[in-house]
Amino acid sequence: MINIAIDGPSGAGKSTVAKALARELSFIYVDTGAMYRSIGLHTRRAGVDPADKEAVIALLPEIAVTLSYGEDGAQHVLLNGEDVSFAIRENEISLYASAVSKIPEVRTFLLALQRDMAKANNVIMDGRDIGTVILPDAQLKIFMFASPEARAKRRYLELLEKGQDVTLEQILAEIEARDEQDRTREVAPAVPAEDAVMLDNSDMTIEENVAYIRSLLEERGLH
Ligand code: C5P
Repeated sequence: MINIAIDGPSGAGKSTVAKALARELSFIYVDTGAMYRSIGLHTRRAGVDPADKEAVIALLPEIAVTLSYGEDGAQHVLLNGEDVSFAIRENEISLYASAVSKIPEVRTFLLALQRDMAKANNVIMDGRDIGTVILPDAQLKIFMFASPEARAKRRYLELLEKGQDVTLEQILAEIEARDEQDRTREVAPAVPAEDAVMLDNSDMTIEENVAYIRSLLEERGLH
């Protein structure tokens, strides 16, 4: 199986690029952030403080996260059988996801699911620790990033399109806080793998980004 790992901070365009690439290559796209977001959503619905480690751990036995793929190949995330693909995109859920993802038990809970998908399929998996922890043997690892301003602007436009009431300043501040939390946590910090290709896409279009990764795959004889 061919495994491509794409890591990087929020708003770096990982999911947009990974989705486009997966479609072109007929690979499965696995959005691991959606899994953490589902646990974040469940935590909020349960009225549990995401910083309360023991309380979040106590919720895990009642949570089942599964991924399913529509006919168009689009990923749907199911939380206890309910399609929460839309609900998890709410801005507040980003902060819940980031808080629960610091808890080692939460990471372990999702690890097997992520590895199993990569064992059984050609995948493009995006997240924060795919190249370092989940798929250390991935044939291609990319660490995608852009300036905080460029990333905040992308996220802001995305949320506006979804009709959410946010400001650019708020999103920039939240992105910087979430990056800091993800980068400095003890378990699986969001840092590049030693053998990752570093890709700053601040001034790249999506098409240029996809074409560049395709050229890397060709260079490596993977496509
Ligand atoms: O990628 P996305 O912004 O949807 O991820 C939401 C949060 O989930 C991130 O801020 C991060 O804290 C967490 N996450 C993680 N490891 C992953 C994917 C996401 O810790 N592999």
